[in-house]
Amino acid sequence: MQFYLATSFIFPRSLRLRLFALCFVATHLPLIGYLGWGFATGRIMLAEFLLLTVMTVIGTGIALVGIGALLSPIHALADALHDEESAPPALPQVGDVIRTLYAGVQRAADTTQARIDMLHQAAHEDPLTGIANRRGFLAALDALPADRRKGCVAIIDIDYFKRVNDLKGHEEGDRVLAAFATRLAALVRRADIVARWGGEEFAVFFQDCIEDEASWSLARIAARLRSDPIGEIHGRPISFSAGISRWIGGPLDDAFAQADEALYEAKQAGRDRICRAGPSLTAA
Ligand code: GH3
Ligand code: MG
Ligand code: MG
Repeated sequence: MQFYLATSFIFPRSLRLRLFALCFVATHLPLIGYLGWGFATGRIMLAEFLLLTVMTVIGTGIALVGIGALLSPIHALADALHDEESAPPALPQVGDVIRTLYAGVQRAADTTQARIDMLHQAAHEDPLTGIANRRGFLAALDALPADRRKGCVAIIDIDYFKRVNDLKGHEEGDRVLAAFATRLAALVRRADIVARWGGEEFAVFFQDCIEDEASWSLARIAARLRSDPIGEIHGRPISFSAGISRWIGGPLDDAFAQADEALYEAKQAGRDRICRAGPSLTAA
């Protein structure tokens, strides 16, 4: 790279011409040496001089044609990648081929990163509701620092949701799911994590909360669904049942199993209510 930069004053815009110039000088060195020696000693011979000159010209021609041919694939690639606007401003002195190749590689890296980000987002997001899916939820929990990995988990299940589909169609069902997710995400705290767990089930991680706080938070959401419904089933505002379980950093599966059990209790007790897991499950 140092030699490349040091010689960049020779044809600064063209690596090909720079190589040709270098090659021209290098192939003529024996001839120049012979001429210098011949004139200094007076022993120059015409036949030798002519032979050396012809061979030098032929050698130079072969070298130039060969270098040109070897460079052509690089130039073809450089042309394909050529985009003056995206050339990195940090390398203004570098020749055209290197600069264009650098810009192309940079652009390819940016595009690849953007695709990776897109795939990552697609893998962690529920397309219908726009909130995290189960994988996204678990990844978000995993990414939390150890001292924040405690609180409550809740499983929330929309009551009689099948009837929305049956009575008003799947499209209305989808709309209700999206509206529910939006409502949920809007009404929990920024530190809490909301996800669509699957079907008409949602999960919330209430960071650094005890059961009472998680329960109040969900009760507030339930009250809001009554005062400002996202839809109705048989003339009643759509409601949900939920199960809450404490999680203090142990196996998450255990916490969710307990929350599920509490959710089952809530359903059994008549729906539209929040139950907590524990030795004796109690409605909140
Ligand atoms: P419960 O109160 O016991 O929870 O009754 P439910 O009707 O809500 O529960 P059930 O498990 O019987 O029905 C859930 C329905 O949710 C069945 C399924 O077709 C529907 N569902 C699941 N995913 C989607 C979805 O993405 N879009 C729509 N429109 N419906 C969905
Ligand atoms: Mg369900
Ligand atoms: Mg349900």
